[in-house]
Amino acid sequence: MVDSREILKLKPLIKKHEKFFNNCGVHTKSFLNMYCMNCDEEPVCATCSRDEVESRHRTQGHKVLQVQKTTGMNGIKEEDIVEYAGSDIFKLKNNGRDVFAIVTRGKPEAKVLPGDQHCIHCRFVFKINGRSPPQPNAKYCSLQCKVSEFETFFSDHLNLSYVVLIG
Ligand SMILES: [Zn+2]
Ligand SMILES: [Zn+2]
Ligand SMILES: [Zn+2]
Repeated sequence: MVDSREILKLKPLIKKHEKFFNNCGVHTKSFLNMYCMNCDEEPVCATCSRDEVESRHRTQGHKVLQVQKTTGMNGIKEEDIVEYAGSDIFKLKNNGRDVFAIVTRGKPEAKVLPGDQHCIHCRFVFKINGRSPPQPNAKYCSLQCKVSEFETFFSDHLNLSYVVLIG
């Protein structure tokens, strides 16, 4: 179980998702794919991340994540993000590693057929191909959907306490 406050720490990462894999302004052949979970700064490339300036994150024990590109999606390896996100997110494969998509591919008009396993937030249907086993524990298609679901829960909860207090 992951504390719900940990889940909300994913919000800054999700907000920056469009910046990942843009070219680095300093190292023009490199992509921006490194991100510090503790600092909420702009993403940097692997070369930036190795130099003295950026290594301060690691020397301070910060969590620096590497964003993965997998089947056209930006994702984070499960082992790198599980402490924040838990593991009930649909797993994509990248070089044999389990990866969680950062943002949803769900479309509101998508049809969910009986028996389709889908995201409980955006209804995106999980495509299970023949070689990979089913993922009965997966509830969300992406980190974004899990965070959105928790935010909805919290705002409902807050409204409820408010009603109780003024009542
Ligand atoms: Zn760079
Ligand atoms: Zn940092
Ligand atoms: Zn979703």
